[in-house]
Parts: sequence; C-alpha cells; structure tokens
Amino acid sequence: MTSEFEIIKRYFSDSSGDAVLGVGDDGAIINIDSSREMVVTMDTLVCDRHFTKDADPASIGFKSLAVNLSDLAAMGARPRHILLSITLPSVHEAWISRFRDGVKLLLDRYSVGLVGGDTTKGSTLSISVTAIGDVVTGTAIRRDKMSIGDDLWVSGIVGLGAIGLLVERELLDVDPTVKRDFLDRLHRPMPRVELGQALSGVASAAIDVSDGLVADALHLANSSEIALEIEFDKIPVHHTLSTKKYEAVVQDCILGGGDDYELLFSAPREMSRAIQNIATQCDLALTRIGKAVPGRGVTILDQGISLTRDFKKGFDHFDKCD
Ligand code: ADP
Ligand code: MG
Repeated sequence: MTSEFEIIKRYFSDSSGDAVLGVGDDGAIINIDSSREMVVTMDTLVCDRHFTKDADPASIGFKSLAVNLSDLAAMGARPRHILLSITLPSVHEAWISRFRDGVKLLLDRYSVGLVGGDTTKGSTLSISVTAIGDVVTGTAIRRDKMSIGDDLWVSGIVGLGAIGLLVERELLDVDPTVKRDFLDRLHRPMPRVELGQALSGVASAAIDVSDGLVADALHLANSSEIALEIEFDKIPVHHTLSTKKYEAVVQDCILGGGDDYELLFSAPREMSRAIQNIATQCDLALTRIGKAVPGRGVTILDQGISLTRDFKKGFDHFDKCD
C-alpha cells in the first residue's frame, strides 16, 4: 500500500505558496516581518488509532497539545497560540471538562493561548491541534541543514512510549516500580520546548522522535541528502532495560517505536561543549549517538558492524501491517 509519506509527497507537497519552508519539516516557516518568522504545525489524534475509547480524557487533551508543541520544539520555535478542532460522537460534559483540564496543563505551562478552533459532531472522536510559534528570522532549526561530519544527538531516553504501549496491552512486563515511567511517556509525553529553543544556533538540524528513532533519523538524513550512522550501544534507554537492550522486542521499541517526543538533532563537533551546557541548563540528558556520513539512508552499528537483524523501522499510518 502507498505509504503516508508517499501520499504527502505525491499529492500535497507542491503548493506551499510564499512560505519560507513548506511541507516536509516538523513545521512550516512563514515570514512575518524582517525580524520574525512564524512556525506552524498541525497534528491529529484519532480514537482507536492514537488512544483507546476508555483512555483518560485529561491525558488525551495533554497529548493532543504535547505532540504539536513537540513539533514546534523540533523547529526551535517558541510556542505562542493554538487552534483546537474536536469531533465528538456525543456530548459528555464531564469528559469534555477533563479533556480541557489536560489541554490547559500545557497551555499554562508554556503561556500558550487557545485562540480558536472548531467543534463538530462525527462518528469517531478526533482532535486536531494547529500550533503556532515564532522564531527570530533565519533561526528556525530545519531538517535539511545537516552536514557530513556532524554529530547526531538525542535527548532523554528512547523507547519509553513504545514499551509503554506494550506494557499497557500486557504484552510486556517491566519492573512494577517503574511501570509509570513508561505509561507516562505514552500518555503524557513532555514536549522538549525549552531544549528546542536552546538548540537554535547550535543544532544544524532537528526532528522530534514521533515515528521511531530510525524512521525519524531517516527523515533527517533524506532531507539533508546525506546518511546517518547510529551506534546502537550509545542509544540511551531506561536504566531497567540496559541489560535487555538486545532482546528483539525491546530493540524494536528502541529503534522503531514511536511516541517518544525526544529531540533528535545534529551539530558540528565544535558545538559539543555548548550542547553539554544546554543539557545542564535544561536538566536533561543529551547523548551523542552517531554521525552524519556521505551516502544515503540510516545504518545502525553494533560494535562497528551493521546490525543484520530485520528490526522494526518505524511507524507509517498506511503500513502493510495496518
Ligand atoms: P510530524 O511527524 O513531524 O508531525 P508528519 O509526518 O505528520 O510530521 O508530516 C510530514 C510533513 O508532511 C509535515 O511537514 C506535514 O506538515 C506535512 N503534511 C502531512 N500531511 C499533509 C497534508 N495532508 N497536506 C499537506 N502537508 C501535509
Ligand atoms: Mg515531528
């Protein structure tokens, strides 16, 4: 079946008007005046696709906003306003109120205004958020500016969201004392808003990890028309998983699981000290996991040798397994 990205490329990517940057990055860049640019992004969450019917409405609200703020973070933008569109099969005010509380947690945390949207009835509950941010002109972090020799870095730890999904479905057991770490990442991922802005002027390219580490690394590599090498043993994972990293299920979650919302970014080697300072300032681990090399694609290296296992590569809405 045609992939999500083929559909976007074939049908929707050639009409970006006078945008500074149109389809293909985490957000579009639109000129405001000589000093500022607007960064705009939109993501949709659909019931039974991104969350279950019985999921906590506050978490659905939180995540609807988080995934959009994460895209702004990947562009290095400061979030300013959102528009919220919600399609409801029926009206349950207690549900709507809790949903609103979840949205509000992130609106308040980042002083973002909810300035409009749409409310309609429909057979499937779905939520679309348009998030608007801004940057000083020319300082947005794009996917297409990575150079050969740049280091590849990732924030926080990877694989939590995908493992959280398996834990929730009772397909995988983790230490009960840390179960919340995985479930919280799945339901209430924290967008790396401060980090994204701090990386402006430091990172050469960035993307947020929403489809999976390898899939998103490939988006970066393809946009910049170079290749990436990632060292598997350098990928930061939850401390309870360090000895299980090579188990097939765990490895698939680390490399191909989506829903992490960490930032994957590149930077020239001379930025290493600045990046360590940003890690301290944001109180967030930043780990060098690979580098940009000549060629195309993404290679996962294990002790210097390319990983041969056919690991899960990432998420596509129209993948053959769906
Ligand atoms: P992300 O995972 O960062 O949210 P997506 O994978 O959803 O990004 O989308 C990839 C790119 O394609 C983005 O630039 C997005 O704005 C664009 N895009 C997705 N769907 C459409 C569409 N229907 N029309 C125009 N652009 C789209
Ligand atoms: Mg993104």
